Amino acid sequence: MAETVRPEWVLKVSGAVRKRVDGAAREDNVTGAIEVVVADVEVLNESKTPPFEVDQEKEIGEEIRLEYRYLDLRKQRMQKNLKLRHDIVQIIRGYFHDKDFLEIETPILVKGTPEGSREYLVPSRLYNGNFYVLPQSPQQLKQLLMVSGVDKYFQIPRCFRDEDQRGDRQPEFTQFEIEMSFVEQDDVIEVMEGCFVELTQSIRPDKKIQATPFPRITHEDAMHTYGSDKPDLRFELKFADVTDIAKDCGFKVFASAETVKAMNVPGGASLSRKDIDDLTDLAQRHGAGGLAWVRVGEDAGPVVKNSTPEFLKALSKATGAADGDIIFFAAGEYPHALEPLGEVRRAVAAKLDMIDKSIWSYVWIVDFPMFEHSKETGAVGAVHHPFTRPHPEDEALIESDPLKARAVAYDLVLDGNEVGGGSMRIHERDLQKKIFDILGITEEDADRRFGHLLRAFEFGAPPHGGIAMGLDRVCMIFADEPNIREVIAFPKDQKAKDIMLGAPSPMPKEQLDELGVQVIEE
Ligand code: ASP
Repeated sequence: MAETVRPEWVLKVSGAVRKRVDGAAREDNVTGAIEVVVADVEVLNESKTPPFEVDQEKEIGEEIRLEYRYLDLRKQRMQKNLKLRHDIVQIIRGYFHDKDFLEIETPILVKGTPEGSREYLVPSRLYNGNFYVLPQSPQQLKQLLMVSGVDKYFQIPRCFRDEDQRGDRQPEFTQFEIEMSFVEQDDVIEVMEGCFVELTQSIRPDKKIQATPFPRITHEDAMHTYGSDKPDLRFELKFADVTDIAKDCGFKVFASAETVKAMNVPGGASLSRKDIDDLTDLAQRHGAGGLAWVRVGEDAGPVVKNSTPEFLKALSKATGAADGDIIFFAAGEYPHALEPLGEVRRAVAAKLDMIDKSIWSYVWIVDFPMFEHSKETGAVGAVHHPFTRPHPEDEALIESDPLKARAVAYDLVLDGNEVGGGSMRIHERDLQKKIFDILGITEEDADRRFGHLLRAFEFGAPPHGGIAMGLDRVCMIFADEPNIREVIAFPKDQKAKDIMLGAPSPMPKEQLDELGVQVIEE
């Protein structure tokens, strides 16, 4: 009998359990310290040979893992991740419950909650030609709950965004989010910060939080100092502004640039030419023309050849650089020219092992800009979403110079990952209409898309604000996993497909007819 049993068979075994003799215990196995003296075995179910070994943590292709997800989930690593996600959710629920937040479910079939991404549509059978929309987030509904007199709202909603799958995203993902009335930014930040402190202490006691309260950096300072709105602060590397001293440095690219930054990397002269070429590639992939650098104390390299000795001296002074260091530069227009150097900053720190892995660095980025130019269309769009409140000092700017106006919007960043963001909201109908106007949303359009919100604001809407965090990303970081698919039981692949279920899939004609939907074959 024992010979015929194969991996993944389901057995009922009776017998006495005993400790293994000394030396025979298997430490690599959770039940390795005991054994069963089998009296009887009954086969409850057989198993085909699985497409991969379930009890081994071998690297296997993701496609096959997702196709047989129910087998993949049997692995210890995945069971651990499921449990960890469960624990995180329990802590979050308990935390907000204790703070008197009400958990309220909002609908999934809604009328568009545009926040900037493409929406998933659901055709209506009863009203042919009409569609429901799956929510990008419960944004407008949670605001409407504030108008309804709910003081503190909390939910762990599923959100849907029909975007091309760039990077580590999923078409459906989970948030945990709050909304509070009669509050200011500090109230929202404090309550969410407390949740992350509790999560970290309970789930990752091995990590020391770098600083509490979490530091706050304005968006502008973060861009100027780190070239990123999600800086990793586990290491020091900062940019120095050298725009002025570069004015007559002799190097044309620097002299004519609106802003020039220099980032000194202590000990960075040890980077090889190949390392520098890789960093140059990285900078170029993020939009830079190239990557200028100088090895301090060495007479070589393009910057040295093209600039004056006085500039190099002033540069060392401005950056605190010494022999054996390397300085990298960014030159061009704020803020886009700084982003490539921000990427170089991350990569260099990893390469030179500058990251202290024993700490977790939380930081709030505050005072985000209100609007930005879309890179694709050039149109003015909301950086956060159209319901975000302008900074009280910048209310005049929203009309005279909108791109300079700041918002009362904030993101929480952990070790260089954006884990969530929120804002104080507009609660006045006129201000909301004005913002729609700046965003190029016509009155008619505003009425059609947001009429419910504008109407609600006529009935005594309280000041309110909130925030939403990405649960999948939080679980990924807490589980030390490289992507969010590892912490989602049944994720889509990177092309938005569910390989196991075979979704999306064609539908029978009768079903489409009922919906009044016609598929045009390409
Ligand atoms: N609804 C926003 C989002 O999903 C978050 C918020 O402003 O609370 O990104």
